[in-house]
Amino acid sequence: MKQTLETAGLPKLIFHGDIHKVWVNDEKEIHCDTIIISTGASAKYLGLDSEQKYLKLGGGVSACAVCDGFFYRNQEVVIVGAGDSACEEAHYLSKLCKKVTMLVRRDEFRASKIMASRVKNTPNIEILFNTETEEVLGDGQVVTGVRVVNNQTNEKHDIPATGFFVAIGHKPNTDIFKDYLELDETGYIVNAKPGTSKTNVEGVFVSGDAADHVYRQAITAAGTGCMAALDAERYLAAKDSTFEVSTSTYN
Ligand SMILES: Cc1cc2nc3c(=O)[nH]c(=O)nc-3n(C[C@H](O)[C@H](O)[C@H](O)COP(=O)(O)OP(=O)(O)OC[C@H]3O[C@@H](n4cnc5c(N)ncnc54)[C@H](O)[C@@H]3O)c2cc1C
Repeated sequence: MKQTLETAGLPKLIFHGDIHKVWVNDEKEIHCDTIIISTGASAKYLGLDSEQKYLKLGGGVSACAVCDGFFYRNQEVVIVGAGDSACEEAHYLSKLCKKVTMLVRRDEFRASKIMASRVKNTPNIEILFNTETEEVLGDGQVVTGVRVVNNQTNEKHDIPATGFFVAIGHKPNTDIFKDYLELDETGYIVNAKPGTSKTNVEGVFVSGDAADHVYRQAITAAGTGCMAALDAERYLAAKDSTFEVSTSTYN
């Protein structure tokens, strides 16, 4: 389980002027010329005990089809969600899995028409509207199925599945920056200058999932981490001409 903001130990900060201040655990005060934020984004889960149990066991619950879909090759899986990302993930899974059952809470998708019709036209995706997850079923080690309930009729039935994918969104871990940094409507940090790691505050840079609602992969996070390091180094070099830039060949 990823750390929450509270347990991460960085409750206070001031981004102002030339020197930024950060307090760690309300005790240690750090003054710095530049900061790179890489606090990531946390996947949202339904919060069912059975879901959390098999998530912690690594037994068949995932919030990333692109990351884990391959482990369910030629198997039957269930995915929860109704937005563009859920449709994209369901479609991705349909290319690997024997059957994908998609659970949609309402009687329609939230996704764009094009994404919804892509899913509807995929033969091995079955869509169950007005349907919610009641329990993730398992043998104590791995997922074996999902008990669902129709929220209109209250009818329940079990769907055999070895994988349970949750695609109901992510929450960027950026609440503590909201007084200083420009965030989009979901809370992702906005790049002040596209193609760089710059934020709207001088000397504060961002990398990884905290600013990336599109790719959210380890390799892209590492890449933007490198960009942020280079941007920070250049920022320091410009601020203090005695600071030696080791990457000057990239300028
Ligand atoms: C189940 C799962 C499987 C995945 N599998 C793959 C895969 O196979 N391949 C792939 O490329 N990607 C995969 N990913 C995605 C990948 O893990 C992320 O894209 C990547 O880790 C993002 O890196 P990041 O540094 O931005 O954030 P993170 O790796 O999420 O790191 C953020 C860190 O910041 C800390 N933090 C948060 N708030 C604060 C705070 N206030 N103060 C201090 N610290 C804080 C967190 O505790 C955490 O340690 C997977 C993700 C998940 C959830």
